[in-house]
Amino acid sequence: MSLNIPTTKAPRVVIIGGGFAGLELANKLHGQNFQVVILDKNNYHQFQPLLYQVATAGLEPSSIAFPFRKLFQKQENFHFRMVEVQEIYPEKKRLLTNKGEIFYDYLVIANGAGNNFFGNTNIEKYAYPMKSISEALALRNTIFQRFENALTAENTKEKESNLNIVVVGGGPTGVEVAGALSEMRNKILPKDYPEMDFTKMRIILIQGDKRLLSSMSEESSSKSDYYLKSMNVEIYYNSKVTNYDGEHVFFNENETIPTKTLIWAAGVIGNRINGLNENCYGPGGRIIVDQFNACIQHPQLFAIGDIALVNGDENFPKGHPQMAQPAIQQGKRLAKNLIKIQKNEQLIPFKYKDLGSMATIGRNKAVVELPSWKFQGFFAWLVWIVVHLRSILGIKNRLAVLVNWIWNYFTYNLSLRLIIKSKDK
Ligand SMILES: Cc1cc2nc3c(=O)[nH]c(=O)nc-3n(C[C@H](O)[C@H](O)[C@H](O)COP(=O)(O)OP(=O)(O)OC[C@H]3O[C@@H](n4cnc5c(N)ncnc54)[C@H](O)[C@@H]3O)c2cc1C
Repeated sequence: MSLNIPTTKAPRVVIIGGGFAGLELANKLHGQNFQVVILDKNNYHQFQPLLYQVATAGLEPSSIAFPFRKLFQKQENFHFRMVEVQEIYPEKKRLLTNKGEIFYDYLVIANGAGNNFFGNTNIEKYAYPMKSISEALALRNTIFQRFENALTAENTKEKESNLNIVVVGGGPTGVEVAGALSEMRNKILPKDYPEMDFTKMRIILIQGDKRLLSSMSEESSSKSDYYLKSMNVEIYYNSKVTNYDGEHVFFNENETIPTKTLIWAAGVIGNRINGLNENCYGPGGRIIVDQFNACIQHPQLFAIGDIALVNGDENFPKGHPQMAQPAIQQGKRLAKNLIKIQKNEQLIPFKYKDLGSMATIGRNKAVVELPSWKFQGFFAWLVWIVVHLRSILGIKNRLAVLVNWIWNYFTYNLSLRLIIKSKDK
């Protein structure tokens, strides 16, 4: 079975994954002498930085997702197939997917990273991760179902474990989701559930490191600690979750917290596709590439974004941060280099330009670190809003997000507190 892609005279670039990296590459190849094929298991691009707002009922999933077919409507010699790539045969320049096979001239792996449960099967089974729209929606359903269950709980213990939410991981995702949950508990839930005492609901953040946001400065860490504590989030530092049975989370030597909702934001690992030489993989399951994003083990095979570990950038000996900017910049550079390969010109090595990092903790509360300026508070929060709005694809989506944010800001009234159950046929 094949994927029915027409053959043309132009060399075929197959891109696995339409995330930040794959999408940027495809866009930059527009109008060039290539046939571009994007393969993705979803039919939409998702804006992961705002997933936590979908999970906490702040945004509709459709405002942070964009269908590939709409994005590339006007692009000639572009093809999309919604398939899951299963195996690569580099020596045959061939790929196997769940719907058939496809041959390539150049292959770009841009399939990102998934959740890392560090081999703990119980945590994998019972915890709620948040790396995709489906996972964020599952979490939203669960959170609101737990509140309903708490109302009808037969005893205090049952009520507590329905109400408590534990977040594991104190990076930007963990900090942002803990802040959003706390705002919901403090301002919104008491109006919806007047019979319930939400002062009994605990939001707990468990962090393995000695500080939050450990990839940012100590100043940003201590400010986010201050913000979260002022919002009644309990924080445990230097703490390692050892197990979770769906009812209790166990951490450190013998500490435990009753909770039916454990949000896992504690680590990522490269999404592995079978077929590559084992020597291709480095720490974190990332594919080791040179400064041209080429896989050293397999010619004409490239990796970009979260899955790639670029060797040779002296400023980032352990690889670039797994964030949107390195992914976008690698996609852009690889597009230019593919064009150069066709023209037999000298390639330009990838150099990451750090534009800074930021995290928001709640309304009027954010931390921002630009290359030459660090700041926090209301202005940082405004900057966070502008940067995220600018990065969302599509004017309609931007408007939808902006209207939601303004509405929520003034009314403290998230409108999406629906429990929508999927119906399996
Ligand atoms: C909750 C959350 C919050 C984040 N917040 C921020 C932030 O505030 N700022 C920031 O800079 N970064 C943030 N990040 C990180 C950022 O989203 C990633 O670094 C970025 O998405 C990486 O881009 P990518 O293109 O490499 O991979 P992705 O964007 O993950 O895209 C990978 C694509 O590959 C597809 N795919 C995977 N496997 C297969 C397969 N076998 N077959 C077919 N398709 C496949 C997926 O469907 C997906 O579309 C956040 C991430 C998460 C999860």
